[in-house]
Amino acid sequence: MLATTHSLASALIVTKISPLYISLPLVVIFHYLFDFIPHWDTGTGLRTGEKTKRRAILLTIIDLAVAGGLVFYFFQKNKPFLPLLWGGVILGISPDILEFPSLFFNFRPFPLNVLEKFHTEVMHNRSNLPWGIILQIVLILVFILFR
Ligand SMILES: [Zn+2]
Repeated sequence: MLATTHSLASALIVTKISPLYISLPLVVIFHYLFDFIPHWDTGTGLRTGEKTKRRAILLTIIDLAVAGGLVFYFFQKNKPFLPLLWGGVILGISPDILEFPSLFFNFRPFPLNVLEKFHTEVMHNRSNLPWGIILQIVLILVFILFR
């Protein structure tokens, strides 16, 4: 899913659920669970060659900027800096960050290759536009509503 969807889900989890030894594993578990829902994201079409790496990077930068902006606005604004919030958000997108070397440099050392296989072949379900993004917008609205 989009970094925006994963980031807001992670922000909600780390701000609503404690202690840390429960919330942080949940952040990672929910990354994989949400990826199981058929979706479109900035990497869709990259492996099949339908999308260029340059376009995927550009879309990912936009996605990350939107993610950071929304997390800041809905979870951080008017509060002292919350390291747990941002740590949880980074953890929540870490399965996607860990795929960067394989996607862009064909670099797949162990254990990244095992994680990549699990992430893309077991847990990842693709869907095309517009439905691949409509459900994510609904999820994002739900996360914001329940914050
Ligand atoms: Zn993912």
